[in-house]
Amino acid sequence: MKAKLDLKRKGNFNISLANRKIRTIASSICFVLLVIATVCTSGVALAQTGHVNPWAPAELAPLPPPASLTNGVWLKGDLHVHSRHSKESSNNPVAKIISFSKSVGINFLAITDHDNHVDGDVAHHTWADPDFKSDSVLLLYAAEWTTTRGHGNAFSARPYDHQRLYDVRDQRDVVVGAVKKELGIHLSANHPSGKDHFGYSYDMIESIEVWNSAVWSKNANAIMIWDDMLSSGRKLTGRGGSDAHHGTPETPAQETKNSYQAKANYVGTPTTWVFATARTTQAVIDALTNGRVSISANPYAPRVEFYADINQDGKMDMMMGDNVKATGKPVKFRVQLSGNTVPDGEYTISIVKNGDPFSTLKTTGKILIVEFIDTPATIGRTYYRVAVEGPPTVYPQVPGSMALSGNMVGLSNPIYFNFDPNF
Ligand SMILES: [Zn+2]
Ligand SMILES: [Zn+2]
Repeated sequence: MKAKLDLKRKGNFNISLANRKIRTIASSICFVLLVIATVCTSGVALAQTGHVNPWAPAELAPLPPPASLTNGVWLKGDLHVHSRHSKESSNNPVAKIISFSKSVGINFLAITDHDNHVDGDVAHHTWADPDFKSDSVLLLYAAEWTTTRGHGNAFSARPYDHQRLYDVRDQRDVVVGAVKKELGIHLSANHPSGKDHFGYSYDMIESIEVWNSAVWSKNANAIMIWDDMLSSGRKLTGRGGSDAHHGTPETPAQETKNSYQAKANYVGTPTTWVFATARTTQAVIDALTNGRVSISANPYAPRVEFYADINQDGKMDMMMGDNVKATGKPVKFRVQLSGNTVPDGEYTISIVKNGDPFSTLKTTGKILIVEFIDTPATIGRTYYRVAVEGPPTVYPQVPGSMALSGNMVGLSNPIYFNFDPNF
């Protein structure tokens, strides 16, 4: 019994010894962890102190002055229309599209048929159509690049080898980008959110379709993507495109299940305006690339113009699409609605600065101009753009479009400060 007790005591002693050992080991581990944590913390602190981000905003070299604000012409067009050369199109031959465009005052047009419907051979279909000609409407050489990774529009002032762009569609972006560059075309992301969104790098495009079709409300995500791209330093033009596929049938027998669309979404819903240096296809594409562009709900809706006076001499020095170095002094901005405004209609102008709401202004009357002042930062990028809402403008040829675009009147492109041209 005693022996047992001894054993028990011995056992107890052993247990408490083991506990002490465990405590000692545990406190040693804690100490080691503490040392490691201290070393790690001081390591992080050291790295932060010594780290210089080579991409951080810095003073830019001088930028070229903006181009003339008066030496040019405003031209309006539609940059996304399908003709009979797209398989799902109905009652929409090239001749009908062009004559309609002419009748509503459209100056330029991109007929963008699905290239996959002709295995990439757009040159021997849309562009070779005997009716692909006009004495008044500037016709771009264009196609909708229709790929597994989504859709984009290719625009050119002259014929180019579209087959090469079609053939390379499933390759890596670095290969696609090289071919696109060799072709010398303007590439644009189509309907960038939702089905068939542009699933390629935004670094190889010049513009983005921020307003697709008369249905304005479905473009909210496209606008969000645009602001994200702008905020991250990409100077990317926002443009419109009706994406119209269907024309009005000539006879009731030609009616298709989609014919109703012709009265709600057709050429000009929306209309893209460009300030071109000349009335040529090349000048239209250059303006599109440079961003001297705004978008209106239809060809008769007022045009949004957006200017800035950077040296406070009372004279505007730059317009949307232009990029200057910020001086640190206040800039006066002017938003102007040109053309047919609705008499006594009240227009609401929402100003967006770097992707966030900046202010909201209201205007009414015959001369629709509003001005605001702000001081862009001297280091780092700033951009401003505006959206205008107000009474819809009647588009008699496409009467159903007004209900779809609602109060959305027009969108400007941004005015840029400190955007690196070598980005
Ligand atoms: Zn598409
Ligand atoms: Zn399309």
